[in-house]
Amino acid sequence: MEITEIKIYPKRLGSDKKLKAFVTITIDDAFVIRDIKVIEGKTGLFVAMPSAKITSSCPECGKKNAVRDNFCSNCGVSLQALHEQHVQSDEEEHRDIAHPINKETRQYLHRMIIDEYHKVAESSDQYSDYDRSYHDE
Ligand SMILES: [Zn+2]
Repeated sequence: MEITEIKIYPKRLGSDKKLKAFVTITIDDAFVIRDIKVIEGKTGLFVAMPSAKITSSCPECGKKNAVRDNFCSNCGVSLQALHEQHVQSDEEEHRDIAHPINKETRQYLHRMIIDEYHKVAESSDQYSDYDRSYHDE
């Protein structure tokens, strides 16, 4: 597996100061993964793979609720019994959509993305297009 393109979208503004950039990578000129994040942690920068919030459907009305909600946001029924099967921690609330499954690939991915992030971050004028060109928020 080879990463053939990396696009870094540094994030300057916003409430989450630990979130440094969004990243889009292309693998083997054939497969694109978006919404990778560069995050500043206690021991330095790390790469977070795209993740999705885990939801579970209300047994009464079928509405999808976040795993940690105790009551259905639509009909108010208690979801505690439903959620006992889940571990109730922050780590379990999100699940990776795509991620490397071995150490070599994880290290390769991490090194490529962090290197590219440093290059982009050092040439700071490229920052300004972020809000226009990326996310639709
Ligand atoms: Zn419900």
